[in-house]
Amino acid sequence: WFTDVKMAPPDAILGLTEAFLKDKNPKRVNLGVGAYRDDNSKPWVLPSVKEAQKRVIAKNMNKEYAPIQGLADFYNKSIALALGEDSDILKNNCNATVQSLSGTGALRIGAAFLGLFWKGERVVYLPTPTWPNHRPIFMHSGLKVANYSYYDPNKRALNEQALFESLCKIPEKSIVLLHACAHNPTGVDPNAEQWCEISRIMKSRNLYAFFDMAYLGFASGDIDNDALAVRIFSAEGHTFCLAQSYAKNMGLYGERVGSFTLVCNSKDEAERVTSNLKTIIRAMYSSPPIHGARIAMEIFKDDELYCVWLDDLKTMANRTISMRKELKEKLISLGSKHSWEHITNQIGMFCYTGLKAEQVSRLIKEYSIYLTKDGRIAVVGLTTKNVAYVAESIHAVTK
Ligand code: PMP
Repeated sequence: WFTDVKMAPPDAILGLTEAFLKDKNPKRVNLGVGAYRDDNSKPWVLPSVKEAQKRVIAKNMNKEYAPIQGLADFYNKSIALALGEDSDILKNNCNATVQSLSGTGALRIGAAFLGLFWKGERVVYLPTPTWPNHRPIFMHSGLKVANYSYYDPNKRALNEQALFESLCKIPEKSIVLLHACAHNPTGVDPNAEQWCEISRIMKSRNLYAFFDMAYLGFASGDIDNDALAVRIFSAEGHTFCLAQSYAKNMGLYGERVGSFTLVCNSKDEAERVTSNLKTIIRAMYSSPPIHGARIAMEIFKDDELYCVWLDDLKTMANRTISMRKELKEKLISLGSKHSWEHITNQIGMFCYTGLKAEQVSRLIKEYSIYLTKDGRIAVVGLTTKNVAYVAESIHAVTK
């Protein structure tokens, strides 16, 4: 049956980690992987998560299935974090929210729902560039994928004019994917004013927003600040979809904790949408895992533990921000003639350095510094111990 099946291309990012692990150079640095590391290059289990997990285990709960839509105390709090506790959408029960298998699973549920019920143009517009998984996620649900302008590689910043012009050209009733904060891979986000303009254009063109929120609180260390775009859209009366992930902001990567929300026009519509989300989930994986969601719930419901989590978010965001500063300052002090302002202007887990493919390949081959071909580095892979070596190496290949 399967003699004609061709080898699928390996995942570019996960392949980097394999190559890194095989590298014997003691100076090797992995800047490919999108997972937080502490200053000793070790994965970090958040103190809030450690304590919450202890409490969950002490309760000695059973391992019965969660309901199809997941644990209500988890997903209700999850959407409240994004929209704000005083959100009218929540007050009026206009949200159809379910637990999901992290952010990818949330995107996948949303894509499947739109694939079944979207009555407009069946095209999802993605920013150029975007997280490489967006494309297949939507295509697997029978939707077409196209692009809109976002990034200016020369300025290494948002291409405001091209973005607005490009949104204005998208056919009405299309779907537009927006990174809610800490755009991956560029680390470049619109400011408040630019978000308002995006919202205005999308409203006037009858475009539907699908927010991917993979870094809430992780980008700036402040949840309300990182939720700005979604809050602007809800204040402006948009209805939209929202995929949330707790991989980065709680460090629950492998636990697969997330939620999906579709904002509706009424409680009745939300109930009908929820019933269909349940049908989709039932056929995909029946019900979500319970352990990670229980940990998140424990954090949400205990004021003290919640404050520990807010501190953990600040610890991760501050370490990341300080590594950006150090990398930039070291490059300047080495006498680099290039501008590295974008390293500190960009936010979140990644920095789009502007390094060219051949410079990236030299960094890998000659210096054992692993990053993706597009020049994206995971800033969270930098530490006080390796940042000088990384700066020297980048300087050497960009002279
Ligand atoms: N969207 C974006 C933009 C991401 O960067 C990520 C994480 N790499 C995700 C979604 C989803 O990740 P996860 O499924 O681990 O939550």
